[in-house]
Amino acid sequence: MTLADSPPPAAKTETTSVDVLIIGSGISGSSLSFNLHKHHPQLKTLTTEARSVVGGNVISRKENGYVWEEGPNTFQPSEQIMRLAVDVGLKDDLVLADSTLPRFVYWDDKLFALPLGPQDIPTFRLLSLPGAIRAGLGALGFVLPAPRGEETVKQFITRHLGSEVFEKMIDPFVSGVYAGDPSKLAMQSAFKKIFALTKLGGTQGILEGGIIRIGQKKREREQNPPDEDLPTWKGGALGSFKDGLAMLPNAIQRQLGDKIKLQWRLVDVERAENGMYKAVFETPEGTRDITTKAIAMTTPAGATVRALKNLAPGISALEKVYYPPVWSVSLAYPKSEFKEPLRGFGNLIPRKLGIRTLGTIWSSVLFPGRAPEDMELLLSYIGGARDVGIKELSEEEVVKAVDGDVKRILLKDGSQVEPVVVGVRRWERAIPQYNLGHEGVLNDALKAMEDCEGIFLGGNFVHGVAFGDCVSWGAEYAPRIADYVSVQTGTLLNKS
Ligand SMILES: Cc1cc2nc3c(=O)[nH]c(=O)nc-3n(C[C@H](O)[C@H](O)[C@H](O)COP(=O)(O)OP(=O)(O)OC[C@H]3O[C@@H](n4cnc5c(N)ncnc54)[C@H](O)[C@@H]3O)c2cc1C
Repeated sequence: MTLADSPPPAAKTETTSVDVLIIGSGISGSSLSFNLHKHHPQLKTLTTEARSVVGGNVISRKENGYVWEEGPNTFQPSEQIMRLAVDVGLKDDLVLADSTLPRFVYWDDKLFALPLGPQDIPTFRLLSLPGAIRAGLGALGFVLPAPRGEETVKQFITRHLGSEVFEKMIDPFVSGVYAGDPSKLAMQSAFKKIFALTKLGGTQGILEGGIIRIGQKKREREQNPPDEDLPTWKGGALGSFKDGLAMLPNAIQRQLGDKIKLQWRLVDVERAENGMYKAVFETPEGTRDITTKAIAMTTPAGATVRALKNLAPGISALEKVYYPPVWSVSLAYPKSEFKEPLRGFGNLIPRKLGIRTLGTIWSSVLFPGRAPEDMELLLSYIGGARDVGIKELSEEEVVKAVDGDVKRILLKDGSQVEPVVVGVRRWERAIPQYNLGHEGVLNDALKAMEDCEGIFLGGNFVHGVAFGDCVSWGAEYAPRIADYVSVQTGTLLNKS
């Protein structure tokens, strides 16, 4: 340890007491904190964040006429995201991309638009005729029975829709969501909603399950219509905010004020009197202790282990959760350099092609104001579970690799234009992989926490990796945690 790393000189430890401590101000922690603050104002809450900014993975930047993302790029709209956006005062800042923008897959030196609906299937040429027939029969339910135990995404999709759909469509899609390895990701954990479709009908087919699910959702909406003050959106639309996704955690921070402490790193949790906990923090002012009735952990798996291992040694099961390295690279090019004017969400790239870039989001096409008028801004992700060597590359090497791939796929043949390097970020540990055994790992962790009533495990390795999953978790757990605290408070009052 160098002098610079050493802890600040022994400072006085102050102890304060709260009802709920929320650890981490990523989108999971921010959503939970805001929901507790708004709907349960009687509770004394404190959110603590190890870094000097809120938002966790959500990092948006604005400079020189560009607005770009260095973490997640968009969300799939949901009622809970809309609710949160409206409640924090961002209704007018919401931006929704045109829902008819297609996603493309690069194959055979061409871009193929994925169907937006059944009307596009007759003109869809990415699959060969036998590949399309195989997929159609599988979707109708002509599939081999499911094996015992978990299936990987590759096994499941190949069994249901055939190897061509897997290779050309699902493999690049998996890269887009997880930067993952489909021969390791567990279908039932990584793509829960699609997996569930095969259990809905009598045929096991995804099509029948999909139709049943659409009906269920319609009925759910009729019984529980969305609030009228919420913005509406079309299926397939993607959302963000004018200045990027970080507007959401930043707006929450403004509303919560000093209920959020930055640069407060949770280092340990101990039991305190009356079923409470003492949480120990490293802060710029020295060590601080907080006693609390409940703790909501929304930190990445490794940080959760480090903070809870003295309290519940079995929590170390979470060390098995793997986060591969990824780089996000935002480059801009003059519109005049493109083979064709861009109109779409972006392009995915099947791994079989040996192209290093995983996929590219056409950011300036999706949302207005992301780039100067004559430029297109492209956000590419590169690396992931099948290219871990990427973390050894320098920033220049990564930019060169992405620029080469963009030139090959999108720019005019022979284009030598230098890109504007708008933003580059290395994620040493990007997205948690819901690999085979993930459910078992989570169960082991929950078992280890059985005696730790009042500690709630959250974060994207628990409840889903999508931005929307994190927002939903916060909305759903706020009332649960409030209930827990009120029961706990009642018990304490009865004792006193
Ligand atoms: C490169 C990339 C691209 C992505 N793209 C998309 C996308 O386009 N769409 C989408 O829906 N999702 C996307 N995701 C996934 C999504 O962004 C994440 O799953 C989500 O942001 C995770 O939020 P979280 O709050 O659960 O965790 P995090 O964002 O990891 O937040 C955890 C917080 O805990 C803090 N912390 C850690 N240790 C401590 C400690 N000891 N004490 C206090 N605080 C601590 C951290 O500093 C951090 O702020 C992407 C993720 C990455 C990395």
